[in-house]
Amino acid sequence: MRPLSGTLVIRNGQLVDGNGGAPIPAATVHVRDGRIAWAGAEFAAPPIPEGARVIDARGGSILPGLVEAHFHPTYFNVAALEDLDIKYPVEYVTLLAAANARLALECGYTSARSGGSLFNIDVWLKKAIEAELCPGPRLSASGREICGVAGLMDWNPDYRKIGMEGLVLLINGPIEARAAVRKLVKDGVEWVKTYPTGDAAAPDTNDHHTLCMTFEEMHAVVSTAHNHGLKVTGHCRATEGIRNALKAGYDAIEHGTFMDSECLDLMLSRNVPCVPALYFEYASIQRGPEFGMPQNVIDGHQETLDGGAESARMIMKAGGCLGMGGDYGFAWNPHGDYARELSFFVNYVGFSPLEVLTCATKNGAMLLGRSHEIGTIEPGKLADLLIVDGDPVADITVLEKRDRFIAVLQGGVIRAGKLATPG
Ligand SMILES: [Zn+2]
Repeated sequence: MRPLSGTLVIRNGQLVDGNGGAPIPAATVHVRDGRIAWAGAEFAAPPIPEGARVIDARGGSILPGLVEAHFHPTYFNVAALEDLDIKYPVEYVTLLAAANARLALECGYTSARSGGSLFNIDVWLKKAIEAELCPGPRLSASGREICGVAGLMDWNPDYRKIGMEGLVLLINGPIEARAAVRKLVKDGVEWVKTYPTGDAAAPDTNDHHTLCMTFEEMHAVVSTAHNHGLKVTGHCRATEGIRNALKAGYDAIEHGTFMDSECLDLMLSRNVPCVPALYFEYASIQRGPEFGMPQNVIDGHQETLDGGAESARMIMKAGGCLGMGGDYGFAWNPHGDYARELSFFVNYVGFSPLEVLTCATKNGAMLLGRSHEIGTIEPGKLADLLIVDGDPVADITVLEKRDRFIAVLQGGVIRAGKLATPG
């Protein structure tokens, strides 16, 4: 992805730099060749270089581009299990993924971390975005996910003889776990996404308190992945699944729903980040009945929401690292609603807007392994920025309103927002 060449100055907006401090009013950001050259209060700013393009933030806010930390580019209005793998051919799902990536960028998300993809689509989507063949967030890819046989993601009955090819690598034992990771190494993923536990969505045999992989399988995944420089994460709801993941050496935890103090200590001892993805649970409870969701599934989502909110508060209070992302792509939780996660953490979970913004920017960059390049507005970093007509620190919901976006920039290039529209 080519950065801007030349100089750009953004002025007349408050600066929320992603580090969590109080916003700087009447700030200016100087960008040179796609990277931030200077950021701070306008009265202390260097003179505007001759020939620079100037963007007026109109008294709004200048933020780091948002990071969607649990992004499923190949999910599209999923309302039933078959929508996840066999509803459409891979050719069409690839186009849907490109459309979802464009939408995420238009929503202010300049980077995203895949939480799993059909086939290897996210790996190639990432390459296409980097090559500017299609617009989208800077991606980190996961490809196919790994789950134990008969676990949460192994839902096609054997008599159909179709397995889960394309969506999940199913394993029995550590030897098959190693083989699955080796396949992903060749595919070119950065994160290996696994399923240590079940979910409220499968109350009969793989509910949110059920384990879907053994510790030995998880440990085999981690040692193989780490040998090849890949990181490992997992869908972890049950307490024992979280504990197993942390003891096996996981690099991140998705959901971390039912944390206990031992899990918290293990998490903090290695500063392992967690992506709760909680708005999905709320949306499932609110809108599930419209889609025929059974009551026992809705009850499970309520238990998950209550446990997940409590765990997220516990992690935040203890100074742990949380990322914002949220399983968007279901019919009741569609792509484009990403910033509802942020509003939800303020209005329901009880975080401050600045805490949530730090989770959605700085911590997201850390989850991507790109803290040195993105996530905060500091000299030397890429100018991945979101300029909003409004104050998300006073009202976080402004980030849900795309018509309030003045510009979304990657490397100083305006990719979306009002200023991206000709005329
Ligand atoms: Zn997910």
